[in-house]
Amino acid sequence: MGLFSFLQKDLAIDLGTANSLVYVRGKGIVVREPSVVAMYQGNSVLAVGIEARRMAGKTPANITIVRPLRDGVIADFDITEKMLRYFIGKAISDQGFFRMGPRVLVGIPVGVTEVEKRAVLDAALHAGAKEASLIEEPMAAAIGAGLPVVEATGSLVVDLGGGTSEVAVISMKGMVATKSIRIGGDEMNEVILQYVRKHYSLMIGERTAEDIKINIGCAYPMSEVRVHAVSGRDLVSGLPKSITVDSEEIRQAISEPVTAILDAIKICLEMTPPELSADIYDRGIMLTGGGALLTGLDRFLCDALGVPVLVAEDPLSCVALGAGKVLDNLDTLRQVLALSKRA
Ligand code: ADP
Ligand code: MG
Repeated sequence: MGLFSFLQKDLAIDLGTANSLVYVRGKGIVVREPSVVAMYQGNSVLAVGIEARRMAGKTPANITIVRPLRDGVIADFDITEKMLRYFIGKAISDQGFFRMGPRVLVGIPVGVTEVEKRAVLDAALHAGAKEASLIEEPMAAAIGAGLPVVEATGSLVVDLGGGTSEVAVISMKGMVATKSIRIGGDEMNEVILQYVRKHYSLMIGERTAEDIKINIGCAYPMSEVRVHAVSGRDLVSGLPKSITVDSEEIRQAISEPVTAILDAIKICLEMTPPELSADIYDRGIMLTGGGALLTGLDRFLCDALGVPVLVAEDPLSCVALGAGKVLDNLDTLRQVLALSKRA
């Protein structure tokens, strides 16, 4: 601090299972890449982020593509640290010679263990941060989506990521009720992959399954059924094959994870004090995270819950934007932090 504080960078990091974003204070989001690392012979980093993701499913045996976070938490510490170092380095690359370790604020899912929290703090410190703090993702998502978390009003946010779906009711800077499930967009990709294998004897990759979901996946019957061409390997002949799937069969294929999300919201609503329930009834539910972009999810949830459902303006950025806003207003928002540690 003091004289050299202008050399100090403050960063907010959304370390997601699917995507990582880095927000630089005063600048906004400067890094937005998949949380993927390509490893050469299991020990050296070949590529990180966009570069690594491009290689997924197409690598020779000595290159492996790793997603170091699973279910929202660190599954491989060393690789997470290397990935974080790369993203932090990218975010502060214009610091030049006088570079100092940045202070970072990192999002974590709700309901993770103390050990899992410490692992995130340590990964950030090992990756070059001078000071690291944590913020629970639904809180950051709610702030990023513009919900009035400071007021004595109930806000319900649902953050739909790759590995987790997190529901929280927030009032006066605190989380009143939370429910987190380890089911998210990855699970939808997985059930699509299994569906195509079972019904068309076609083996497809994870990325192809995700393409199907993004292109024609839906949670509510669409007025017009859409089709999508899919290529993969025929299970019987072993040869390349192409088929088409339609939006209705994909809707049915993903209905289990979609229902799991609905149930998580119901559980959270049951834990909510009545005054706050009344606020939610009036103001609705806010969806954030990439899963909020699933076609018709808002309509499906609105129908099932009888409450208005809104999709955040830029769902994929909410956690990073919200954590960034906390950095910008640390004096008023310090209470929302979950844990801090210095190097
Ligand atoms: P995380 O916080 O776990 O990194 P994100 O908030 O970045 O996750 O969201 C990633 C998830 O959102 C992925 O599972 C991805 O497939 C999904 N997703 C992104 N766009 C869409 C879309 N248009 N429709 C459905 N799902 C989507
Ligand atoms: Mg997320």
